Amino acid sequence: MCKMIPFLDLKKINEQHRKKIDLAIEKVLESGQYLLGKSLEKFEQEFAVYCGTKYAVGAANGLDALDLIIKAYEFSKDDEIIVPANTYIASILAISKNDCRPILVEPDINNYLLDPDLIEEKITKKTKAIMVVHLYGRVTEMRKILDLAKKYKLKVIEDAAQAHGATYNDKKVGNLGDVSGFSFYPSKNLGCLGDGGAITTNDEGLADKMRALRNYGSHIKYHNVYKGINSRLDEIQAAILSVKLPHLDDENEKRMAIANYYLNNITNKKIVLPSAPPQKKSHVWHVFVIRTKERENLQQYLAENNIQTSIHYPIPPHKQKAYQEWNHLSLPITEKIHQEVLSLPMSPVLSLKEAEKIVHVINKW
Ligand SMILES: *Cc1c(COP(=O)(O)O)cnc(C)c1O
Repeated sequence: MCKMIPFLDLKKINEQHRKKIDLAIEKVLESGQYLLGKSLEKFEQEFAVYCGTKYAVGAANGLDALDLIIKAYEFSKDDEIIVPANTYIASILAISKNDCRPILVEPDINNYLLDPDLIEEKITKKTKAIMVVHLYGRVTEMRKILDLAKKYKLKVIEDAAQAHGATYNDKKVGNLGDVSGFSFYPSKNLGCLGDGGAITTNDEGLADKMRALRNYGSHIKYHNVYKGINSRLDEIQAAILSVKLPHLDDENEKRMAIANYYLNNITNKKIVLPSAPPQKKSHVWHVFVIRTKERENLQQYLAENNIQTSIHYPIPPHKQKAYQEWNHLSLPITEKIHQEVLSLPMSPVLSLKEAEKIVHVINKW
């Protein structure tokens, strides 16, 4: 019997760093400080340096990172934020929970990212920001978006939760707009052993404000200047992230090697492969997403051959029960994507041998 190839083997990923992680956890335990201590400060500095920004601010998770960004800007009720219609629900939740309106814009079918040519027609007097989402690990084409933001005085927020380490013209994700939200959920390219998130920016005032907002709105204990939330990246997670960050580029390279192997060797005509990224590092392959009209059939065939796959995502935000007010909308590109996408195994610990088997089975389908 063949062994199952898992969609993602998190244990194997973290096992690589086991000794250093054990040591890091022990050090935090010994320190007696478990929140807002030296480990967080250290990781925030390292992550800012990595992204090329002046500041990084830890948060409890990626959704909170985006939430803190929107809170910090103090947008008014019903202000509008443009967001790709095919994003993960968290991008949209961060907007709607702050009483702002997510304005859904269709993605480009060739890269699954916000289509810059469809944005301007959606801009109104209420528009305050464009949230780009570097979905699947691929960087959004920023030039037109940055020009539009300048023309209409809009903030550019990056949802960078799937693209740690990806670059756009030699600048890193997290440093392409005004401010960015990251997630360190275990399965992300940089993942901790629980929940974690961060914000990066070059805006000192904004960074300072978010440091207060994440801690009940206070810089000084019991002095609350904002109606904040409780959303801190804890010391243990920060220490683990400091262990893993130096390996991120290497791990992304391994993802690129697997992706290139898939791109060069999957030849089945019933499958649409992801388009090649414009530059080598403009895609860090958080997931490798193919499309086919016979998705259920392919997924089942792969399962029968001991290959586990996943779907990112099966239901678009505007068809979710949670957003019933949008259920009548027709967004054909987004709907087509959600009906046809399938994610193949992808990770820095997937072996070439496993990739060979996956390609072989797919080409036989
Ligand atoms: C994972 C993710 C988030 C949310 O991160 P959490 O840490 O799970 O809250 C936000 N946006 C995108 C695109 C994501 O993939």
